[in-house]
Amino acid sequence: MGVYNRTPLAFERGEGARLFTTDGEAYLDCMAGIAVNALGHANPKLVQAVKDQAEKLWHVSNIFTIPGQEKLAKVLTDATFADVVFFTNSGAEAVECAIKTARKYHWAKGHPERIDIIGFDGSFHGRTLAAVNASGNASYLEGFGPPMPGFIQLPFDDMEALKAAVGPTTAAIIVEPVQGEGGARCLSVESLRALRQLCDETGTLLILDEIQCGLGRTGKLFAYEWAGIEPDIMAVAKALGGGFPVGACLATAEAGSGMTVGSHGSTYGGNPLAMAVGLAAMEELNSPELLAHVREVAGYFTQQFEGLKTRFPDVVADIRGKGLLIGLKLVTPNREFMQHARDQHLLIAGGGDNCVRLLPPLNLTLEEAREAVEKLERACEAARAQAKAAA
Ligand SMILES: *Cc1c(COP(=O)(O)O)cnc(C)c1O
Repeated sequence: MGVYNRTPLAFERGEGARLFTTDGEAYLDCMAGIAVNALGHANPKLVQAVKDQAEKLWHVSNIFTIPGQEKLAKVLTDATFADVVFFTNSGAEAVECAIKTARKYHWAKGHPERIDIIGFDGSFHGRTLAAVNASGNASYLEGFGPPMPGFIQLPFDDMEALKAAVGPTTAAIIVEPVQGEGGARCLSVESLRALRQLCDETGTLLILDEIQCGLGRTGKLFAYEWAGIEPDIMAVAKALGGGFPVGACLATAEAGSGMTVGSHGSTYGGNPLAMAVGLAAMEELNSPELLAHVREVAGYFTQQFEGLKTRFPDVVADIRGKGLLIGLKLVTPNREFMQHARDQHLLIAGGGDNCVRLLPPLNLTLEEAREAVEKLERACEAARAQAKAAA
């Protein structure tokens, strides 16, 4: 189906932060499959995990005990607020599970009227019907029938609007601590704490969508740690398989208590092959050295990008995001800027609000980061020249 607006670039091989086209051209990858290849391409540990497991067992039904699932669930619950985990194949399915878990919780507690999921402008939660309804992006909803009941959208980071909206039919609030597609907008520590407090006061469940900002991307294993709060439910995916499709919905024992035998399921979710890769990836992602490295490279980037903003105020309007989820809000059109970057053999992602996003592998070296800055500087020059020529 013609649902993608594709760039005519085809890659056949990757190594770390490099991608090589079918005709042998090298590109520096600072989008990493939209935060998926967090450990770089063809990471030897992940490759080995896939090979080893591929020779043993790929798939068995979830009617059986799957030891890899128990292991990865333990790793995830030990590292987070969560007590229970449901494994999925994608981010949207993790969000789907989060929404069902929240509604089922209230239903099981004798409050079937509490169905409303409150989401925010500029959010992105995936493309299933529930996920597009939760994010409320009009262009993703158009043509897919009437908006589903039980979903409410509010302005991003507007505590007064939120307080006014939470009521007796509210089930949960769903939010990305750092928006991805929306343009790397970041919730402050104060806002996250205020959200947690409001949820506590009203018996509302807090669902964090850390599919993009989680798993080391912000320089902590999960972005919520920066605020010293904990969610009730969390969706993760993307980096969890480092490129192999794995997602997970995490919950506290309490929030997950409605999800009893038969409530939910998945054929592929949590199969042995996926779990083997997830375990290998988690071992790398949850390392203090890697997280410190993310903070170091992020600090370097932020400083350099502030410099670009000063030198190119006609191109770069604002620097946003957290850690290695960085948004540059542009003055010139972001789609054109992505092409200028590609002309320099640098891959970056687009984003809402006329942003471009950098989401490099978390193990990007400082030398590669310097190279990315040089390429971006040349892209800024090209954007300036294009704007001048058009004026
Ligand atoms: C990518 C993403 C999703 C959807 O994940 P899929 O694997 O594409 O279904 C949901 N939420 C956020 C924040 C994302 O970045």
